Amino acid sequence: MQEIFEKLQQLQTVLSRKFDIKKEIEEIPRALSTKTEMLKRLKSSYLEKNDTYEAGQERIKHLRHLMTEAELLREDSEKKMDSITTQREYEALDTEIRDAAEKEQSLRKDIQREEVVLAELKESMEREEKLIQLQEAELNEEQVRVEEETSEREKELKRLVEEEESAIVPDIDSEIVFKFERIISNKAGLGLVPVKGGVCTGCNMILPAQFVNDVRTEKDVLFCPYCSRILFYEEGEMVYEPGGDMEMNDQENVGGLSDLAEDLGIDLD
Ligand SMILES: [Zn+2]
Repeated sequence: MQEIFEKLQQLQTVLSRKFDIKKEIEEIPRALSTKTEMLKRLKSSYLEKNDTYEAGQERIKHLRHLMTEAELLREDSEKKMDSITTQREYEALDTEIRDAAEKEQSLRKDIQREEVVLAELKESMEREEKLIQLQEAELNEEQVRVEEETSEREKELKRLVEEEESAIVPDIDSEIVFKFERIISNKAGLGLVPVKGGVCTGCNMILPAQFVNDVRTEKDVLFCPYCSRILFYEEGEMVYEPGGDMEMNDQENVGGLSDLAEDLGIDLD
């Protein structure tokens, strides 16, 4: 029985490492998805600006066309000036020329205004283009890093399974291994805990006396009826003494405090 517990302890170490690595593999691409999302937004903003830019160019083309028309009309009217004979003809032509010139002038202003807007837009698009290129390069680098890290973790995982897990598992009943693996994945890596003073130290539930006795006499591998962890017997009064996990926590706290004190240069004594 002691041997089985030792094997389970070893298996627990391997399995929790395995689950940690699996979790890490899941976490690795997260930064990637944020960057991908950002790149997508940048690109869609760029495309929107590009549409606005193209529409602006079309408008300028149209305005230039109208300006050319006004110009031709004015030149035509100016030519006709040479062949007029009456005052009325002169006045009509003069009005035509002035109207056309005014229209030309106003169109020229419109074109200039549009051109200023488009130039600003173009500048902002160029900035975004650089940003997109930068983000794309970063994303590619990140992708390579993610692939490297993932393959490293996967190698470690494979090694754990093929070398360590497979060396322990054949010595333990397969159903126990199956249950144990599930407990560890559910219970944050702790699947084997002592019963102390009639209490499961995994879930702190008081266990039936006969059950505790069965654990103590090590007849079989037994699972806590409340938290499903595998139990082994340990002497001690869990209920009446602040023992077990609590003691360990206290020690950790003291350690943490003295480390902190040392970092700060304070003498606790
Ligand atoms: Zn329990």
